[in-house]
Amino acid sequence: MHFTGLKSVGESWQQAAQYLDNNVGGTACLVAAMERASVQRLVFSSSATVYGQPDAVPISESAPLRTTNSYGRSKLLCEDILRELQMADSRWQVALLRYFNPVGAHTSGLIGEKPTGVPNNLMPYITQVAAGQHPFLRVFGDDYPTVDGTGVRDYIHVMDLAKGHLAALHYLEREGKGIAVNLGTGSGVSVLQLAAAFTQATGIAIAHQILARRQGDVASCYAATDLALNALAWRAQLSIEAMCADAWRWEQSVRNL
Ligand code: UDP
Repeated sequence: MHFTGLKSVGESWQQAAQYLDNNVGGTACLVAAMERASVQRLVFSSSATVYGQPDAVPISESAPLRTTNSYGRSKLLCEDILRELQMADSRWQVALLRYFNPVGAHTSGLIGEKPTGVPNNLMPYITQVAAGQHPFLRVFGDDYPTVDGTGVRDYIHVMDLAKGHLAALHYLEREGKGIAVNLGTGSGVSVLQLAAAFTQATGIAIAHQILARRQGDVASCYAATDLALNALAWRAQLSIEAMCADAWRWEQSVRNL
């Protein structure tokens, strides 16, 4: 994908501006408010998207930072602000948590994310296919250099992700300095493997059709997890089947609301 500035070809300026406004503007406002309140410790939700098209997987935290779309660019700009803030003022301690692909929901089925409109992300689309809202899963490309040709990602249960935040907060308290760290499982799962795991976990078959690649998608993206383990003493525990079962429980709760 061609990407030289704040937005990529195919993205609207409105969308790019919204990401800049919400993410970068929001972070700048938050930092100013924190300064006023003399609070200088922050756990920031960054994203694996700051690695752009990776040269190699698993992706380590020392991999080059670059982006392929305005969302990624906005997250990287936030990281830059927070990195420079820490360099300029040693009272600031920031954990930049680079999320891979958070999925699932609280096991109670009471807390989750309800996408508006047609979901862009894979897991909520799968749960909507299971619920009969769409006739089949649209698989965006089966000609990637991956295990079965479909895109590979590092799906992580949101409950594991939540525990990663606590571990990061403890790190900041203990070490008195910031960190940039991946939160992922370290395992790559393809689109078709996720659909199969969903069926395994729920007993519901997911029909699919192969479509063209989605613009801007990378073939394979999964985390190196050694820094998280060594520095935060944290590792993801929950299986891909648990992610699917909890995502499905949440989808059913949302439908009953
Ligand atoms: N994907 C797909 N159909 C969908 C949504 C996503 O085939 O309806 C694929 C997508 O091409 C990628 C993977 O599933 O290979 C994960 O996509 P998602 O948008 O959830 O995460 P991201 O690409 O942002 O990491």
